[in-house]
Amino acid sequence: MKKITIAIDGFSSTGKSTVAKRIAKHLGYVYVDSGAMYRAVTYYAMQQGFIDSNHFNIEGLVENLKAITISFKFNNALGFAEVYLNGINIENDIRTLEVSSFVSKVAEISEVRQKLVEQQQQLGKDGGVVMDGRDIGTVVFPDAELKLFLTASPENRAKRRFDELVKRGDRVLYDEVLKNVEERDYIDSHRKDSPLVKAEDAIEIDNSNMSKEEQFHIVLGLVDKRINSI
Ligand code: C5P
Repeated sequence: MKKITIAIDGFSSTGKSTVAKRIAKHLGYVYVDSGAMYRAVTYYAMQQGFIDSNHFNIEGLVENLKAITISFKFNNALGFAEVYLNGINIENDIRTLEVSSFVSKVAEISEVRQKLVEQQQQLGKDGGVVMDGRDIGTVVFPDAELKLFLTASPENRAKRRFDELVKRGDRVLYDEVLKNVEERDYIDSHRKDSPLVKAEDAIEIDNSNMSKEEQFHIVLGLVDKRINSI
């Protein structure tokens, strides 16, 4: 059976990665979390002192992009690939609200995008990939056979992200999570380079009132239909 490319884009915390991971597992495809790559660069920038709440040394980060190697390693126990920065597993470190508060500023930088898009295209060059992000259907894989665009209300999304952070043991307030979700939506959809927009040929799914199970079956139906049409 032909292995297609599935691009899943949408606003922050719309459950893209949850459905993408499950679909990839079901089909035996590779799942790539492109957001994790932007988070990895952000984590590097924080570690090196290039970014904090008072300043952002963009030049310093850009000059050091060559020193950043991002890789993924499949974790059998978890059932998905974890992200590594220069050989160190940073899967947990990149999911904090602090990283979330800087990541959209880092993702605005064209040099960062260029480096990561190149690697994303390389990871998906043989098809059989489910990739989620903000520009997958528009920039990374404009020819993807199936493009989805997920949306949900900001309050719904903030609640989901808040629950995830609390479950991890992070001390956060719902209001600050909502503020972060709204801020990232704004920056991601207004930046000059590769803003978050729905690709013309993407199918929009509003999952505000959908369970994970319902969404999985809807997406699986779309995947089957697309594969059968080829
Ligand atoms: O998907 P996730 O919320 O982890 O992404 C974190 C951030 O990375 C987004 O808010 C966005 O700024 C950036 N991003 C991007 N392009 C992608 C994926 C993520 O700009 N393809």
